[in-house]
Amino acid sequence: MIDPKIIKKEFPVFKNNSNLVYLDSANTSLTPQIVIHKLVEYYENYPANIKRGIYSLSERATAEFEETRKVIASFINAKNKKEVIFTRGTTESINLVAYSLGRKIVNENDEVVVSVLEHHSNFVPWQVLAQEMGAVFKVIDINDEGILTIVKDNSSEVSLDDVITKKTKILALAYISNVLGTVNPLKEIIKKARQINPHIVVVVDAAQAVAHRQVDVQDLDCDFLAFSAHKMFGPKGAGILWGKEQRLEEMFPFQYGGEMIEQVKIEKTTFAKLPEKFEAGTPSIADVTAFKEAVKLIQKLGFSNIQKHEKDLVKKARAQLLHIFGKDINIYGPQNEFSSIVTFNLKGLHPHDVASLLNDKHVCIRAGHHCTMPLHTRFGIPASCRASFSIYNNEDDIEALIKGLLTARKLLTHA
Ligand code: PMP
Repeated sequence: MIDPKIIKKEFPVFKNNSNLVYLDSANTSLTPQIVIHKLVEYYENYPANIKRGIYSLSERATAEFEETRKVIASFINAKNKKEVIFTRGTTESINLVAYSLGRKIVNENDEVVVSVLEHHSNFVPWQVLAQEMGAVFKVIDINDEGILTIVKDNSSEVSLDDVITKKTKILALAYISNVLGTVNPLKEIIKKARQINPHIVVVVDAAQAVAHRQVDVQDLDCDFLAFSAHKMFGPKGAGILWGKEQRLEEMFPFQYGGEMIEQVKIEKTTFAKLPEKFEAGTPSIADVTAFKEAVKLIQKLGFSNIQKHEKDLVKKARAQLLHIFGKDINIYGPQNEFSSIVTFNLKGLHPHDVASLLNDKHVCIRAGHHCTMPLHTRFGIPASCRASFSIYNNEDDIEALIKGLLTARKLLTHA
């Protein structure tokens, strides 16, 4: 069972901001003391560079850094820890694949496929890649509920066979939408995509999934998986690209420089093996080191408890919002999908005004297009309000949100 009152004590931000109602964890999660402690431990005890020093300090830093790789590999069920590449986050991970693999395998008239609900960081790199290579950029639509039209049983006429062809080189999809909370049935989609085209490369944006559900890369059978530490209670500035070993082997390096080489000669340079081939320069050592503590926290709480807690809150939040605002609220996303996100608009009120007035009550939500302009265009709206829930939220937070929204409506409609 998750007890937010106990969990809150592990997040110092609540001690330092006594009235804080934080409903923006889909943007970035808060940081627990154990992670902060590990960050400080690195800087206070072994702030050396990794893999470069024949002395104890550097050896300790390297061991701590590499331990995170092991923890992550087991967390996502990677076959081998060398398939785990440290990056700055989801955005860098996806750009890495678009650059290092995309430019190698995508040719003129090939196809690159994404969906309309993607975050810009899983949309724009593919759009630009397709433009540069003269490939066709295909965008899978959603229905009005926010479910991909290719998903069976959503009464759409479209199927994956209409989208994926033998010319499709890349299929890049989010596991969970950062706006609608839609959970894409990726396992079935990937299986079907591989039946249509066995050579397809599947890239999964798992930024919104890893803190909320078990992600198993072997079970999904994707080729790449990208996520960020900061959305799962880890430090800002560290992220993961997991890739199947064979795929990573065939790719160009992403950046050239220190630690990613094998031999440098005036005539020619050869590159290091995995994972160093993709980790040029000095990485964010403290962030990577502390990341494992966040994973351990999630593992200690357990995904079934986390999911149940978040679903209960989202269900209640949606029901209460509908009850109180009725026809004056539009809630977006699948009605029966209760992930951790509630996105809505109050009729006639601009999301930025709403968020700003909520801030006066110490309620933090996100307002805007949430880096999903194509999705907002699909719904014919410029922006929306998003409340997202996590392990430290409870029903008091829903109450604070609703009270704040009632005040905002009163102030804005009488302004
Ligand atoms: N994909 C999704 C689904 C996201 O929600 C986000 C962050 N909002 C990103 C990608 C980008 O993550 P980051 O900013 O950590 O690179």
